[in-house]
Amino acid sequence: MSVPHMTSEQFRSLGHELVDWIACYLDGVESLPVRPRVEPGEIAAMLPTEPPARGEDWRAIIADLDRIIVPGLTHWQSPNFFAYFPANGSHPGILGDLVSTGLGVNGMLWATSPAATELETRVLDWLGEMIGLPESFLSHSPSGGGVIQGTASEAALVALVAARHRAMRSHAPRAATTDLAGRLVLYTSAQAHSSVVKAAMIAGLAAHPEDRRRVRMVETDGNLAMRPDALAAAMSRDDEAGLVPFFVCATVGTTSSTAIDPLDRIGPVCRGHDAGGPYGLGGVWLHVDAAMAGAACVCPEHRDLIRGVEHADSFCFNPHKWMLTNFDCDCLWTRDRQSVVNALSISPEYLRNSASAAGSVIDYRDWQVPLGRRFRALKLWFVIRHYGVEGLRAHIREHMRLAAMFEACVRADDHFEVVTPRTITLVCFRLRPRPGESIGACDQRNRQLLESVNRSGRALLSHTVLPVTAQGGPADQPVFVLRMAIGGTATQERHVRAAWDLVRDCAANTGRT
Ligand code: PLP
Repeated sequence: MSVPHMTSEQFRSLGHELVDWIACYLDGVESLPVRPRVEPGEIAAMLPTEPPARGEDWRAIIADLDRIIVPGLTHWQSPNFFAYFPANGSHPGILGDLVSTGLGVNGMLWATSPAATELETRVLDWLGEMIGLPESFLSHSPSGGGVIQGTASEAALVALVAARHRAMRSHAPRAATTDLAGRLVLYTSAQAHSSVVKAAMIAGLAAHPEDRRRVRMVETDGNLAMRPDALAAAMSRDDEAGLVPFFVCATVGTTSSTAIDPLDRIGPVCRGHDAGGPYGLGGVWLHVDAAMAGAACVCPEHRDLIRGVEHADSFCFNPHKWMLTNFDCDCLWTRDRQSVVNALSISPEYLRNSASAAGSVIDYRDWQVPLGRRFRALKLWFVIRHYGVEGLRAHIREHMRLAAMFEACVRADDHFEVVTPRTITLVCFRLRPRPGESIGACDQRNRQLLESVNRSGRALLSHTVLPVTAQGGPADQPVFVLRMAIGGTATQERHVRAAWDLVRDCAANTGRT
């Protein structure tokens, strides 16, 4: 049979229809239950076990989208989605992804699509300046530059292997490298995202998530931020044991509570340790994971969050979390691009070309784990050009205002307490313990409260456990808290107020207050 390609007329007509479909979905998503009401296996049961032998009618495909898929979704674009951190999307971001898919280029090398590379470099320079990164992270500096990764997890892995490469180079004159590789030690805080330990597992530094032979979880203070003195002490202990500190991952805006590790005090600990590597940057590599909070730095008044970033070797944040750019888009900058490229570059004959050989271009495949890469810079370019810097600032400022408003509501109600200081738009709160109530019993009431809020479908919150009390001291055991993460593209004041009313009603109706 002949290949039943869609004609361009059919594509045009269905494409318009599906863009309409997306616009209607986004317009109406607010009225859908945020969490799907399905049991495991329910969606699979509606899908045929065999693929169709012959191409199907598009009416049937679109009908199944409505009938099977949408009811089985968690609606991340709902203005009532307050769980995890958001996955921002926007009309300009969607269009950017659409065009990128339509163009279908693979920008693995400069030569395989020069515009994809050069636009990415320019947009990352724009964005670096927009969030106040020092010049040394930008592409026109002698050794810096930025790149788009899929996720912050990939950024951590890339930074880690670059750090390892630099450590091996700088220590090589003093130690046999084979021996050195087994003595490298990584540091992060007990509150860091699990992706740091996962990167250690992938890179062979840890055999499993609890393996602490070459991974240190540095203690945190009463605000759950990494303690620089504890970091310095851990490094000294490892030095004395003949191990080699090589990588620190600090977090600006931890996942559980958006705690801010103090870069201005962690940086000097890293820099002061064995300074003088091969590129004049030396020391222990400091990577900063600002996955969610980094977006706040487009507002000059929030740049304090990254005070001391000039000490970092690499820095990343996710425009796909809170900067209106559809998933996936993590931006990673480094001040030591040579170490990144040296760690990840490999040039088989079939990828060689004159531009790469001349060394006059960036080949972004050398800055990431995969070879192939989508044209993700397009959506970021569309978003920045559509909103402008002032528009993006307005987006951040409005959510900061809404978070402060929600926090004030919690603080004004005696039945509840805010558990950790709010730094950006995440409010960690819970039902206050009753006099004499055990931690376990209070946790149980809070678990039930969260479940009844989420079961309602009118809002979705998430939870974590934090090793502190609302008074700022250490808790006897980690306490269960509700996370209200504000940042959805469509979230407005009325949604935040409704979520608070819902929390209070659920608490009161079930007699849990
Ligand atoms: N780092 C932090 C601080 C995060 O909060 C998250 C996810 O929420 C991640 C890393 C992982 O993000 P990604 O899904 O981009 O790997």
